Amino acid sequence: MSTLFPALTRDPAPDRPALRFGDRSLSYAELAAAGGAVADRVRAARRVAVWATPTLETAVGVVGVLLAGVAAVPLNPRSGDQELGHILRDSAPELVLAAPGDALPGALDDIERYDIDVRETVDRTPDDHPDPETPALVVYTSGTTGPPKGAVIPRRALAATLDALADAWQWTGDDVLVHGLPLFHVHGLVLGVLGPLRRGGAVRHLGRFSTEGVARELNDGATMLFGVPTMYHRIAEALPHEPALVKGLSTARLLVSGSAALPVHDHERIAAATGRRVIERYGMTETLMNTSVRADGEARAGTVGVPLPGVELRLVEEDGAPLTSYDGETVGEVQVRGDNLFTEYLNRPDATAAAFTADGWFRTGDMAVREADGYVRIVGRKATDLIKSGGYKIGAGEIENALLEHPGVREAAVTGEPDPDLGERIVAWVVAADPQAPPGLEELADHVARRLAPHKRPRVLRHLDALPRNDMGKIMKRALGEHV
Ligand code: ATP
Ligand code: MG
Repeated sequence: MSTLFPALTRDPAPDRPALRFGDRSLSYAELAAAGGAVADRVRAARRVAVWATPTLETAVGVVGVLLAGVAAVPLNPRSGDQELGHILRDSAPELVLAAPGDALPGALDDIERYDIDVRETVDRTPDDHPDPETPALVVYTSGTTGPPKGAVIPRRALAATLDALADAWQWTGDDVLVHGLPLFHVHGLVLGVLGPLRRGGAVRHLGRFSTEGVARELNDGATMLFGVPTMYHRIAEALPHEPALVKGLSTARLLVSGSAALPVHDHERIAAATGRRVIERYGMTETLMNTSVRADGEARAGTVGVPLPGVELRLVEEDGAPLTSYDGETVGEVQVRGDNLFTEYLNRPDATAAAFTADGWFRTGDMAVREADGYVRIVGRKATDLIKSGGYKIGAGEIENALLEHPGVREAAVTGEPDPDLGERIVAWVVAADPQAPPGLEELADHVARRLAPHKRPRVLRHLDALPRNDMGKIMKRALGEHV
């Protein structure tokens, strides 16, 4: 592998747009020059932290570190001191890159700082790293199920996943991406920044997601939108009052959702208003992307499509036996193999060993079913979303989807809690659409039982003002217990 970014390193075009953040932008030639300057500065380091605000500086910083063949560690600027301290001790970066003027917290005081100047230039753009196993990124998992772990992602995995997505999405250098995600996770950084740059296309970052920003860009030449389900929820809510948003989405080439399950209700509302179906992809920090609905495939609500090219995927039952045929009903753990996988969890040989089977499959911890035609439907996480009740294994996701179809429900999460008779009983956590008139347990339980099956009735209803969510909008089910 010679280069991750051919459009940057082989005669970068001075007038080809690469990045735009707000009213600041860089062409491919300007990005090559600015990234080259960063690369020159960091070349001797092993790992370089990047204070990953949603800015041009972060994108230039990460690109520069990769051009130097060094590993970048994106830091979430909203991390608390404790989490930041953990990440810094664990990854031990020699240098931290930031935008001029950024106030960095005390946890970074002992690390040398380098302010990125996006107008700095060097003539020569390096990027020739023959070893594809060279670490490119250390990305910390979202911490949904435990303290974040640093996944070491080699250059080989970045190339594999981005090229597989290009195949599945017919993604080319003519695409222009609307981006409103943070830059410290795989979704916003790898797919949202490195993806377009690898293809030679453009990124327009909104700084902060807004439905107006999405509408403006999609009506002004942008072709793709990547978002998390909370963004598509806001879009679904806004469509009835924002004709420009309807117009923009109807003409977009590709609307992609990931990082968590897209509620069926939001998928359907967007389809009804715009004629366009959001396509879902499924991935993880450790594996980058595993499956996606293909651009030329059928986007079925509630499914994450088929394995991407180069990804082997199997479902494994509790006794360790892989399913040999798919019926759309039998639940198994998703295990994957392929060039898209990370190398290891940094400093965690125990966790790394536990994550792989003896024959090299990565245990995702996600449970899924597969339709006979290969489509994968994620049922939920083994740890928090699988409820064992009355002899049944019940996925929280389908009950959440059913609850969200009730007009009195704005947000919903489902968990299990110990029950002397059932083993576990189903608990529905609900944010009411109208807090003055919250729906009652019996009404919601009947609503669920009518759509699904009697044994999927929630037995307990708890109303909340808001669900606990992390920066990616993922529901933190561990935190729900603390509300009891
Ligand atoms: P941690 O591993 O620290 O607990 P995390 O698993 O949330 O945090 P990520 O690597 O950011 O950290 O998230 C990957 C997980 O997100 C997957 O394992 C899966 O549970 C979920 N996920 C991603 N995309 C989808 C999707 N399209 N549908 C359902 N779940 C998804
Ligand atoms: Mg995880």
